Amino acid sequence: MSQESADNSDESAGEEPGPLTPAMRQYRQFKTQYPDYILFFRMGDFYEMCWEDARTAARVLGVALTSRSRGGLDAPDAIAMAGVPFHAVDGYLRRMIAAGFRVAVCEQTEDPASAKGLIKREVVRLITPGTLTDEPLLEGRSDNYLAAVALNLTRTQGYRAGLVWVELSTGGCWAMNGSTEQVLDTLVRLRPAEVLVPEQPSGQEHDIAQEIRKRGLAAITPRAAWQFASHFALEQVQAQWGATTAGGYGFEEDDPAVLALGATLSYLRETQKSGLDHLRPPRRHVSEAHMGIDPASWRSLEIERTVRSGGVEGSLLWAIDHTRSGMGARLLRQWLRFPLLDLKLIAQRQETVAALLDRLNVLQAMAGQLREVCDIERILGRVAVGRAAPRDLAALGKCLREALPSLLGMAAELEDHCQLLAGLGAMREFCAQQGAYLTGAVQSDPPGHLRDGGVIADGFDPQLDELRRHGNSAQQWLVDFQKRMAQQSGIASLKVAYNKVFGYYLEVTGAHRDKVPMEWTRRQTVKNAERYVTAELKEFENTTLGARDRAIALEQILFEKVRQELLPNMARFQQLAESVAQLDVLAGLAELARQRRYCRPEFSERRVLEIEEGRHPVLEKQLGAEFVANDVKFAAEDTLQLITGPNMAGKSTYIRQVALIVLLGQIGSFVPARQATLGVVDRLFTRIGASDELHSGQSTFMVEMTETANILNNATERSLVILDEIGRGTSTLDGLSLAWALAEHIAVTIGCRTLFATHYHELTELARRFKGVSNLNVAVREWEDQVIFLHRIVPGGTDRSYGIHVARLAGLPGQVLQRARQLLSELSVHHVQWNKAARSVRSSERHQLQLFEDPAQGLARALGELSLDTLTPLQAFEFIKEWKKKVGNAAG
Ligand code: ADP
Repeated sequence: MSQESADNSDESAGEEPGPLTPAMRQYRQFKTQYPDYILFFRMGDFYEMCWEDARTAARVLGVALTSRSRGGLDAPDAIAMAGVPFHAVDGYLRRMIAAGFRVAVCEQTEDPASAKGLIKREVVRLITPGTLTDEPLLEGRSDNYLAAVALNLTRTQGYRAGLVWVELSTGGCWAMNGSTEQVLDTLVRLRPAEVLVPEQPSGQEHDIAQEIRKRGLAAITPRAAWQFASHFALEQVQAQWGATTAGGYGFEEDDPAVLALGATLSYLRETQKSGLDHLRPPRRHVSEAHMGIDPASWRSLEIERTVRSGGVEGSLLWAIDHTRSGMGARLLRQWLRFPLLDLKLIAQRQETVAALLDRLNVLQAMAGQLREVCDIERILGRVAVGRAAPRDLAALGKCLREALPSLLGMAAELEDHCQLLAGLGAMREFCAQQGAYLTGAVQSDPPGHLRDGGVIADGFDPQLDELRRHGNSAQQWLVDFQKRMAQQSGIASLKVAYNKVFGYYLEVTGAHRDKVPMEWTRRQTVKNAERYVTAELKEFENTTLGARDRAIALEQILFEKVRQELLPNMARFQQLAESVAQLDVLAGLAELARQRRYCRPEFSERRVLEIEEGRHPVLEKQLGAEFVANDVKFAAEDTLQLITGPNMAGKSTYIRQVALIVLLGQIGSFVPARQATLGVVDRLFTRIGASDELHSGQSTFMVEMTETANILNNATERSLVILDEIGRGTSTLDGLSLAWALAEHIAVTIGCRTLFATHYHELTELARRFKGVSNLNVAVREWEDQVIFLHRIVPGGTDRSYGIHVARLAGLPGQVLQRARQLLSELSVHHVQWNKAARSVRSSERHQLQLFEDPAQGLARALGELSLDTLTPLQAFEFIKEWKKKVGNAAG
């Protein structure tokens, strides 16, 4: 039994006032080495945290704060402590990491029973949010990225930003360079758990860190600037992959992506304290090869999570995900983040989905096998960093022998029709080989930990088999011994038993105490019984327990040997895992298409967009048959379609569904429609509703205008723009003018496909003036003073708003509604006048709609907006001068 506990006098903390105990000094020493980490310091069956860390632990983990000082926590010598039991540490680690902390795990590295005085300890793992590999700490269906950002002035491309992201649990590694905006956009889509950024030479935080934080991204870990230096990066690359230049991976040496890679590798090496054999050379990510989606659009389209709850439920991912394995689920997310532009690549994915739909029995059988597949990628990741559990290897072996061969067999049947599946069948051989090895090495249902013994399969190692035979014969020996002793002593009820403190013993009930032979030695008295040992039993114990310990030690060596056997095949395993993930995603998309009757969209290089009976993937899943399908039709020369109609009629749903259909199409999925022809979209922009609290500090209108500016500055002829209610955040007239100018600019100058939902009926006028602009509205039926929304989009404009009807639906009091109706009829008169004025605007005056405002009203408003607290006399004079001029003009 371990002597290691907090009350071992050599070890305990703060027993007496005065100098620290040796264990506390040791704790301090580790803490100085890892000041940015919470130190989990192993003491017997607990991990203890002290001082500030203890307070943090008490707050984050809800564990009790204690002190070993006699005066309690308030005593002057008190050292605050908090502990968590070692067997439940995973749960506590997860909560610490989720709260944004990093943890250094300090273990006892010698057997406490044989240690003299202070036990040797070592920090064996550093756990940070971006470097998780253990199954209990990870979410199986989502990735957990560590990213690094660097900036550099390059010889050929000017000032560039570089980004690297790594999934340590699977060994995936990607790198890109681009403008700072492109890098930040990508970061928003990836949502890494941790981002490494260079410190300024002054030690201050880099500007880019602030930009990252502004976008609501997770833990930022500053690293010394020299870790982002070019020569350092090359050293790291060489140490990891043996390459002496980054050129082999397609990178220039001054590419900021290479600098970020260097910082990433050194961070991983520092935190893992183990091999990184599974880490793959970086794959180059080219932003321009994928559909551009800026962060605001990404968020508002609710692709991976909803804006309101932040959860997956209700998102596009939730609606379309039919993957069966964690690997597939993670790959689907990647596909959604980076829709394709290359029609050939899109067609390859479509082709496989179609082939599977043509063979529903294969699809069904595949789904069954995919459900049985283990997380090959993550198990291999743990094998590489030396943290694989016995069950990991057992699961891998089983999956290689059972699920994979039949899965690959089915894929092989499709190989001829699907380029993406080529070569999959050939992997069967590899699976069979590795599967046979692993199932021969590890028991099929092993215990959770190596220390429990019984992990390595029988027949794998002769020496282990021999030790186990000994163990088995020991059981028989005990049975015989018990029988013999019972006969000799005449105590029939005699039992042989074992406990950790006394080892093996003979137990005799109190009634038979007198019959016990002299040579037995009494060890313990318990209620109604006495316990004895004999010399023979002790000797048996020494050999047996020795054999058990030796067997466990041998199993540890053998397990490591098995691990070493797997390492050289890492690349093939990863290739296998990747193919299975891909198959899972494609089978999932086929299943989706089957269940929800999606169609295969036809792609075109022309700037068209034609969708027949399109549906919103998420709303359709929620509403089922009640969902009303709608058409979309952009011929090559069409640019802007304005959708007017009452609130709650279905305008947003309609325009969002178009964006989602395009996005689904470009990941290679089938789409919710009867038929669709999609001209490939290079960038997708959406400006929808008021954004969430991320922008606190900015007015809604400012946010809206910033997002709109982004669209105007970056949209190309090939982009798709979805606008919902632009100009709502300002006065009606301002808003209308802005919306008008914006619509005009998009239609005339940019010429991209645009869907614009608006309640400004005045905008319908644009269709008369510009080619390629048309009006749509949402059909409404009025019935006995009630309004029924049909959710059907029909051609033509509308000149009525049904706001008051909606207010009634929402339960506004009748009195208020009555008054609103009265006001509406009065105001309509003014409105008609405004409309007339707007129509008479000649094209040169289009940008000056505010001139139609009555100057007296304008003056009143401007006066209202004037802040007297900050107004200087000079500004007051300027204000009067300006208004005199305006009023003078109007009067003249
Ligand atoms: P708007 O943008 O015009 O205010 P929304 O698009 O937000 O309206 O739609 C309001 C509600 O109407 C949605 O939450 C949904 O319940 C319903 N709805 C919208 N479009 C459809 C449709 N095509 N079929 C069925 N219900 C719909």
